[in-house]
Amino acid sequence: MKIVHGYPPNLAAINRALPIDERYALFTYGNTLYNPSGKYIPEHLMVHEETHERQQSAFEGGPDQWWKRYLTNASFRLDQELQAFRAQYAFAKREIADRKQLSRLAHVLASKLSSPIYGSIISLRQALRRITSNRMTPSRARHHSPKPSSRLPRSP
Ligand SMILES: [Zn+2]
Repeated sequence: MKIVHGYPPNLAAINRALPIDERYALFTYGNTLYNPSGKYIPEHLMVHEETHERQQSAFEGGPDQWWKRYLTNASFRLDQELQAFRAQYAFAKREIADRKQLSRLAHVLASKLSSPIYGSIISLRQALRRITSNRMTPSRARHHSPKPSSRLPRSP
């Protein structure tokens, strides 16, 4: 991932949608990570941003359309952020042996996800539970029932 000491191309749209203090935030746009403050980026935070990089490259229309959806659709934003925060926490869990330190990080991440920065899309308690849970979210665990056999393509 390329890291740029500056602002993303869609900063104005971000500022219209969310109360982010752009001086201290990080922004992933495509394969570029914008770091306006030039602050140190811990590895687990890189894992978070790399998740957004993958989401954007897989999204139809690429980073441009991903960001439009992210800024206008709260449930999409929550879904994408939960993936990123869960990956971040799972990485930190492997790296941090001290349970108290890990628990503090979990609370920091949950506070952030439940804050107005993301549009207050989840409660602190729910954020903590969903970031740290090993289980897949119900919406992903379901929808895997096999198709009826009548739907199978006919053999020639
Ligand atoms: Zn994020």
